Amino acid sequence: MTDTPTFRSDVTVELVKHSASDTDVLWAARVSTAGEQSLEEISKDPERSKGLINYLMRDRHGSPFEHNSMTFFVSAPIFVFREFMRHRVGWSYNEESGRYRELEPVFYLPGEDRKLVQRGRPGKYEFVDGTPEQHAALGKTMEDSYRQSYAAYQELLAAGIAREVARATLPVGLFSSMYATCNARSLMHFLGLRTQHEQARVPSFPQREIEMVAEKMEAEWARLMPLTHAAFNANGRVAP
Ligand SMILES: Cc1cc2nc3c(=O)[nH]c(=O)nc-3n(C[C@H](O)[C@H](O)[C@H](O)COP(=O)(O)OP(=O)(O)OC[C@H]3O[C@@H](n4cnc5c(N)ncnc54)[C@H](O)[C@@H]3O)c2cc1C
Repeated sequence: MTDTPTFRSDVTVELVKHSASDTDVLWAARVSTAGEQSLEEISKDPERSKGLINYLMRDRHGSPFEHNSMTFFVSAPIFVFREFMRHRVGWSYNEESGRYRELEPVFYLPGEDRKLVQRGRPGKYEFVDGTPEQHAALGKTMEDSYRQSYAAYQELLAAGIAREVARATLPVGLFSSMYATCNARSLMHFLGLRTQHEQARVPSFPQREIEMVAEKMEAEWARLMPLTHAAFNANGRVAP
């Protein structure tokens, strides 16, 4: 454990465990019409497989997309976790504890490419680049604030105050970590809300930092379930 703060502009997403493939979707859907079938039987006609997945997505037959599982390790600022854990359905979470362990001084600093200035009114605004001066002021003020709050945390711990009480001094820019497990259907719902995408039929305006997490999750999922991912895009990125 070091007391020297680390500043990060990125997030970590690792797919740590999975049982997820397009065949799982076909297998679940085909029981409706064919009863039990072998996996070889199910996936032997690629065009038919693609067509069936597209039909399920288009007509919002969602349950065949639930018979799979992906577990991600995510490390991101606490304010991202607050947004993330609003996704209740089809998600399981376990997060590191600020009661049972001393929290490490890892803090979020927006990168050079983070748009800093908000224009317009809530619900109808855009973000534009900050000036170099704004970036410099932001970096300095955030670093000072993080250092000060972490020093206060350390002082309280040294004075014998319990971790669960002392942590109240820490900001939402502190990094946390969790395992998050979902299925393709719950992930699609999350991606529909937490990414901005040209193929989205219903536009969403997520905060950039949760979108950074979502984009990394989407890349892993697209590799595991390419037909399902393509159908999601082709049907306006609306979860079935
Ligand atoms: C751009 C953006 C801005 C946001 N701003 C705010 C904000 O200012 N303040 C704020 O508090 N939150 C905000 N949120 C969070 C938002 O309100 C949702 O809580 C979050 O996006 C999770 O979505 P969800 O409830 O659809 O997901 P899930 O909880 O995963 O639910 C999935 C679906 O299950 C169904 N469902 C789940 N629970 C119920 C229920 N109790 N009753 C009926 N149907 C249910 C719904 O169809 C729901 O869409 C924001 C989200 C986004 C994307």
